[in-house]
Amino acid sequence: MKLDGHAKLTNSALRAFKSRCSKSTDVFFREKICHLPQFNVWNINWDSTDSNKSDNKNLIKYIITQELSVFGELFHQIGRGYLTREVVAVDLEPFKLIYHISDFGQKYHFMQRTKDSTVKDAHREATTLIKNKTMEWIRLMMHVLYSYRRHGRPGGSTVFLRKQAASHLAIALHSLQDSFSPGHTKRTSYDNFQHPGAIEDIYIYAEQDKHNHSQHDFDSGLANSPLARSAVYASADLLRICALSVSMRSMLPIGWNAFEDKWLKLSSQAK
Ligand SMILES: [Zn+2]
Repeated sequence: MKLDGHAKLTNSALRAFKSRCSKSTDVFFREKICHLPQFNVWNINWDSTDSNKSDNKNLIKYIITQELSVFGELFHQIGRGYLTREVVAVDLEPFKLIYHISDFGQKYHFMQRTKDSTVKDAHREATTLIKNKTMEWIRLMMHVLYSYRRHGRPGGSTVFLRKQAASHLAIALHSLQDSFSPGHTKRTSYDNFQHPGAIEDIYIYAEQDKHNHSQHDFDSGLANSPLARSAVYASADLLRICALSVSMRSMLPIGWNAFEDKWLKLSSQAK
């Protein structure tokens, strides 16, 4: 999936999550958790709602400029669209680039290692990564919301912890979204975006035609394609799990198995 595709999907997912949030009858959840700066939408003007070359190019420039100033803003408040920016940055930040090229890093993009690996291995690695990163977000945000101040550190800022949390969740969202790209996986069907087909194959990047991969990556970011819609709803679902778990003070992600079964199921045909 392309950078602007990730950004557009994440923004749509945040909107979908927030609109469901507003209907919650739990006041604490609705008034406090849903309005965490973590869930701010990035207001950015795009050329098109579909993933396209010019938006993608502009975003690369924008993020690189932002990341270069990252150390200066480490202790600034979480700005609008921080989470979205972090989801995109998984493909860009210099220290994250290793995820892109190394065998070890393929799970960050829901792809398969080059050597000694099966589709089953790749699936397990990627889904474990998504779950672990989700749990890291929950752990850090529980600390920020419930225990940080009680330790009595006056003047202490939780900004750094909140940013760390966002970076973990961003990695989970990035890999989850990539799992819907036809350049990354093959699913048994694509008819119903609420019930995407099980994952039959997970591709090896090094073995692919780069041009085709790139085109597939744009396709998966077309706003109305069933895959992009699945990616939006799956992402919104993951945000809901995060918010719910923290509001109910559960260190384990509430509803994880149902989530995995719905959005990341491995086909029985997979090798
Ligand atoms: Zn990726």
